[in-house]
Amino acid sequence: MKERSLIYHPSGRAGAYANGGYAANIFKGCTHGCKYCYVPAFCKVDRVAFHASVTPAPNMLKRLEADMKRIGVVDEPIFLCFTCDPFCAAAPTQLTLDAIKIIMASGNSVNILTKGWYVRQDAIDLLAENPLNKFGVTLTFSTEALSSQWEPKAAIPKNRLLILRDAHHAGISTWASIEPVIIPEQSLAIMEEASPYVDEFKIGKWNHDKRANDIDWPKFVADAIALMEKLGKKYVLKGDLLKYKAVEAAKC
Ligand code: SF4
Repeated sequence: MKERSLIYHPSGRAGAYANGGYAANIFKGCTHGCKYCYVPAFCKVDRVAFHASVTPAPNMLKRLEADMKRIGVVDEPIFLCFTCDPFCAAAPTQLTLDAIKIIMASGNSVNILTKGWYVRQDAIDLLAENPLNKFGVTLTFSTEALSSQWEPKAAIPKNRLLILRDAHHAGISTWASIEPVIIPEQSLAIMEEASPYVDEFKIGKWNHDKRANDIDWPKFVADAIALMEKLGKKYVLKGDLLKYKAVEAAKC
């Protein structure tokens, strides 16, 4: 029987990160345990079980190899991952490296997004081999205490910045996902701290939580734009924040 394709075209908010290209979720489960994680609800799986362990997607490498043969060389990097973290502490990192190698051997590039505990030097070296590869880190809080409260098993902010620094120094195109914005001042602070190592910021709001309604989104958008302009950084405001840019402009 023909196996189901591993790669897919993400839609909705996720599609904006993949730029209309392909993504693959190479693992099932994620032990970072983020309090705001929407993935179990999205995938209709038990939340406790989802955060308890990480297992490779069935026949992951074989399916990926078949997919790469089928699609040939495509314009956008293959995005890893939306419903898992390719460098989660509990993930078998060697499998992540093997998946990246399969994608690169097919003539394609990868776009990584992680809050990873530990990105090894061999991963950085591998990603540096193709100038079209991209490496992104999610940045949510600037203080360790808040990060540990909301994302108990993800890398602390200081270590995420070190990963970005190493990737940037290796010549890899880097980006930061500033999403979700839960405490605007914290997001702005970590953006400023990370800016020496980040080529592009992608900024998105906090969704799926009523507490997000208490945030002054037009003010956050105005502050974020002012910061990006002060730092001279490329940035993208995701669709759900763009409408607040219009509100702020209308006040002028
Ligand atoms: S890193 Fe993503 S998938 Fe993993 S627990 Fe956090 S929000 Fe969920």
